[in-house]
Amino acid sequence: AHGRTRVLSARWVFDSRPPGSLPAARTTLLQHFHGWFVRTARPVFDTAAVELMDFRTPQPAHGLSFGYVLPTSPCEALVEYTEFSAHPLTPDGYEAAVSHYADDVLRLGERQVLARETGVITMTDAPVPRQTGASVFRIGAAGGATRPATGYTFAGLQRQTRAVADALRRGRYPAPPAAHPLRSRLMDAVLLRALDSGRVDGPELFSRLFARVPMARLLRFLDGDTRPHEDLSIGLRTPVGPMLRSALELPRLPRRPFDLPTAPATGHLPPTETA
Ligand SMILES: Cc1cc2nc3c(=O)[nH]c(=O)nc-3n(C[C@H](O)[C@H](O)[C@H](O)COP(=O)(O)OP(=O)(O)OC[C@H]3O[C@@H](n4cnc5c(N)ncnc54)[C@H](O)[C@@H]3O)c2cc1C
Repeated sequence: AHGRTRVLSARWVFDSRPPGSLPAARTTLLQHFHGWFVRTARPVFDTAAVELMDFRTPQPAHGLSFGYVLPTSPCEALVEYTEFSAHPLTPDGYEAAVSHYADDVLRLGERQVLARETGVITMTDAPVPRQTGASVFRIGAAGGATRPATGYTFAGLQRQTRAVADALRRGRYPAPPAAHPLRSRLMDAVLLRALDSGRVDGPELFSRLFARVPMARLLRFLDGDTRPHEDLSIGLRTPVGPMLRSALELPRLPRRPFDLPTAPATGHLPPTETA
């Protein structure tokens, strides 16, 4: 914590630090977002409902955008603006996007911003190495636990770390398993390609899925926890032609390196504004 170096010895090392670079991929998109923890003057939030993808945000030329709302009380919520695209916005761009969503789309009225958060999650179809030395493993987001097409990571990393803990308890070799089955990663590679190429309309595709797939199944799918026949039934509810074209062209596409943006920072920022 004070910048001093200490040398530790251990039989196994599990490294969850964000990697400095990404492996070359056929498609890499960034899921980048900026959110406000707001308090409103009047009760405007339904605490029984979560808005996961609200596509009433202006859509970027490349990729897609949506808002989401996680209420914690009738007057408090996390209100977030998210994009899946190639480049993060500027700090002013994010503030303008959340402000537009909160004020013009949600019409929150008088509100106070208690805190802000900004983050970037990489959405890549590259295989992520989980072993970097004889006794050194990568786990969590750094070990490929992020579901490529959604950015959801918690469920995958919990499966991964549970398996590691179990192996250690039994005295077995504790290599972290893949957080998502190959089938899910292939489906995601197709979806990422279809989105990146502009061949499918992102808001329309996700809206169709939310409208036509039973909610419990869709949420399990987003976490990478569905069975093959469920994945097939979900795949059939996407625009099949463009998805097939994307699938067929994938093997011919070269894997290219992707430069990670240096900003914006991940994490919670201190409270500032009142509006
Ligand atoms: C704002 C935000 C919201 C998110 N929401 C969701 C969500 O709702 N659902 C979901 O599934 N996923 C979500 N994610 C994805 C999220 O990144 C993961 O679910 C989860 O945080 C990954 O955990 P992790 O331990 O693998 O990585 P992290 O939580 O990123 O942990 C990496 C740790 O490494 C530390 N570190 C970095 N460099 C060094 C260094 N040199 N030395 C020592 N330590 C270092 C960091 O401080 C950090 O604590 C969100 C991500 C962000 C940024």
